[in-house]
Amino acid sequence: MNRAHVIRLNPTPEQATYFRKACGVARHCYNWALAQWKQARAEGQRVTMRHLKREYNRIKREQFPWVLEVTKCAAEQEFSHLSAALTNYFRMKEEGTQPKLKQARKDGEEAGFPRYKSKKHDRLSFYLNNDKFHADGHWLSVPKLGKVNMTEELRLYGRILSGTIFEQAGHWFVSISVDVPHVIPIHRGGTVGIDLGIKVLATTSEGKEFENQKHYRRNLGRIKGLSKGLSRKQEGSQNWWKNSAKLARTHYRIGNQRKDSLHKLTTSIVKDYALIGLEDLNAKGMLANHCLAQAVSDASFFEVKRQFLYKSEQHGGYVQLVDRWFASSKTCHQCGWVKEDLRLSDREWDCEQCGAHILRDSNAAQNVKVEAIRLMTGVPVVASSGQKFACGAGRSGPLATSGETPCCEAGTRVL
Ligand SMILES: [Zn+2]
Repeated sequence: MNRAHVIRLNPTPEQATYFRKACGVARHCYNWALAQWKQARAEGQRVTMRHLKREYNRIKREQFPWVLEVTKCAAEQEFSHLSAALTNYFRMKEEGTQPKLKQARKDGEEAGFPRYKSKKHDRLSFYLNNDKFHADGHWLSVPKLGKVNMTEELRLYGRILSGTIFEQAGHWFVSISVDVPHVIPIHRGGTVGIDLGIKVLATTSEGKEFENQKHYRRNLGRIKGLSKGLSRKQEGSQNWWKNSAKLARTHYRIGNQRKDSLHKLTTSIVKDYALIGLEDLNAKGMLANHCLAQAVSDASFFEVKRQFLYKSEQHGGYVQLVDRWFASSKTCHQCGWVKEDLRLSDREWDCEQCGAHILRDSNAAQNVKVEAIRLMTGVPVVASSGQKFACGAGRSGPLATSGETPCCEAGTRVL
């Protein structure tokens, strides 16, 4: 299983300069290769990446001698990046899934065609081959540079696949991807249903609530101010760069706050429960609604789901997605009566059949739990409290041993 560990670096000023140079080499190489490709196309030819790479290596000593100051991985990987970008463009063209442009591109290319990389707008990053670096304790060895201090040790054990050094909000990071042995522990926890919402981010069927901290919303004033400032400055000027760095730091801080609360939420649930019932919300569809879009993206339902899926796999649990059309909110979890005229604003209501007082979110979570167990076992569950689950059931792969389970249909685990 591939996992990546992102570690912040503490480079000296000289090392930071090396990083900037390497990123510059990577960007230059990408732009050079794209320009060559376009020129060949104008002449009615198609060049392969291998050909371009050979040509680049032949001329670099004379024409671009400064690229020799940094690791050769920085330039070489860019040919793969460009190749992937072109493949992607041709695939979209063939499938007819090119993005729609509001106005024609200045370079006259079609939507989805690779763009030149910009110093101002693109993230600084460069790639390292697995045989060109190693991490030892708090030290990362980079070719032609030496040892760079890392704020923490690499916590993943296994075969190192690759590394990428990148800059974000004035800090340097390394992302190391590692092929870790896939050992799935046996989970002894119970079952839970989860209702995701905007008022309360997550409510469990046991009534536990996780607050929606609305990180973006809280910092919106600052972002607006900085964005306005940026748009009023001369692009590329000293003040523009200063303002741009401030805005990046604000986004970085909000991102960290959001990551922190989401990871705490998903980890605590994944550790406690082996089977997690989760509503398969249509986050993309909700984003299309302009009034909801900001709140929905701030709550990051998609990221919550992604984290539940991979973490639960690591802990030996299972996530059962429940259809988004399943009426979790308007069904009474005690008797099954359906309140057809439930509005979005009704936070609590009384069941007209059994008289139970229903709290919207917790009721939905309990219904999701019952539905998840039904999907998992194929048996409708009446009393679902204290249900324990035999783990591994229904997971595709070597552990799927316990008979037919209806939850393995293709599509249920697609993000
Ligand atoms: Zn009822």
